[in-house]
Amino acid sequence: MEHACKVAIIGAGPAGVLAAALLNKKVEVTIFEHKSLLYSILPTGGGKCNISNSEIDYKEFAKNYPRGEKFLYSVLARFSPAYTMEYFKSIGIDTVTLDDCKIFPEKMSSKFVREKMLSQIEGCYIVKSLVKQVLKLENGFSVKTSDAEYFFDKVIVAIGGHADFSILNDLNIDIVPTKPALTGLCTEVKYNLLSGVVLKNIFNYETDLSGDMLFTHFGISGPIIFKVSSLKARDEFPYLLNFDLLNGKITDSKAFQQILNQNSKKEIKNILSIYLPQNFVEFFLKSLNISPTTKGFEVNAKIRDLIFDNLKTYAIKILSPRPDGETVMSGGVALNQINSKTFECKNTKGLYFVGEVLDIDGFCGGFNLQNCWSGAFAVAEAIIQTF
Ligand SMILES: Cc1cc2nc3c(=O)[nH]c(=O)nc-3n(C[C@H](O)[C@H](O)[C@H](O)COP(=O)(O)OP(=O)(O)OC[C@H]3O[C@@H](n4cnc5c(N)ncnc54)[C@H](O)[C@@H]3O)c2cc1C
Repeated sequence: MEHACKVAIIGAGPAGVLAAALLNKKVEVTIFEHKSLLYSILPTGGGKCNISNSEIDYKEFAKNYPRGEKFLYSVLARFSPAYTMEYFKSIGIDTVTLDDCKIFPEKMSSKFVREKMLSQIEGCYIVKSLVKQVLKLENGFSVKTSDAEYFFDKVIVAIGGHADFSILNDLNIDIVPTKPALTGLCTEVKYNLLSGVVLKNIFNYETDLSGDMLFTHFGISGPIIFKVSSLKARDEFPYLLNFDLLNGKITDSKAFQQILNQNSKKEIKNILSIYLPQNFVEFFLKSLNISPTTKGFEVNAKIRDLIFDNLKTYAIKILSPRPDGETVMSGGVALNQINSKTFECKNTKGLYFVGEVLDIDGFCGGFNLQNCWSGAFAVAEAIIQTF
């Protein structure tokens, strides 16, 4: 009887499970997972699973990956979001695209996606164990758990970005140290009293990004901060972020003077509250030792410029990412060792890496899951083509 190709998949997150589903019944698949299968998809998109993004042009799509942009060109061109949604439709997951381009399952449920995906891996062998070591043998691979050793022709490593990479120690793989990304940031100044306050459409000088920022009990968060944290994931802490809180609302100190003249009898806290939330304004004025009840006509040029300059360049010292707050990890298996068409390791034939285990991470909006999907299609195609 012909020897069935035996493939190990280490890790049953989105990347590993899709690879298993695509290879199921074509080769003999064994999945190693020490927790529940596909548990990591449950919290995605706040439980609704932001499965992908409808950006059509693959080069534009790839711009949403601070790490991995060019590497992903090949798989995004071949296994696009549209291709992926066709696949999901074929297994009973209809999807909807929202106005902001985010794609969700029509049922708005990651639990539903999980059930449908798991139905596709029936027949695969499941080993509910933590893999401790992967070894390259003369013919194939050994996968060791704490109580057994298994042998395979090919191995797909899909352990995600939070895993213990030491299981790869014997494979001579370079790992870029992992750092949290897409996370809130802890600040030197405590903003507890402002927790829940949002500054709308502010501009960050370091990253050229605009968006909304939320004050929290640990520091700052919100859409702009998630992106900034991602772009600066590899910076040393502490670092300074500088924001233009006015972002076009008051262009220069001359315009500010005109506003003061027009509102000469109003208190400065009420004048600034036209542009910014009142509780932030009071906090801000206090930090500059300016009385919030100062009237418009009482604001002299020195105070005017102090206020304007500090709103135009509002500096926040960042101490660290929010502990355990990250959505993804930047870092992982270095991309220069991986074939970008097949996701096979260039130096070790038969060894593949897919998903967040690679040094690839995207912004919010479905980009991280699409990395898993496109990579899984590529790996499965590559393995099937070898037989
Ligand atoms: C709260 C939250 C919300 C998110 N929402 C979204 C979203 O809406 N859209 C989006 O695109 N992305 C989202 N993400 C990111 C996305 O979930 C991840 O990028 C994605 O899960 C990565 O998939 P993966 O299969 O590569 O790795 P993982 O999901 O991390 O799965 C890896 C699996 O491998 C297992 N494993 C690890 N080591 C071993 C070992 N040695 N032996 C056996 N098993 C092992 C783990 O237990 C795990 O099950 C979110 C992340 C978080 C935390």
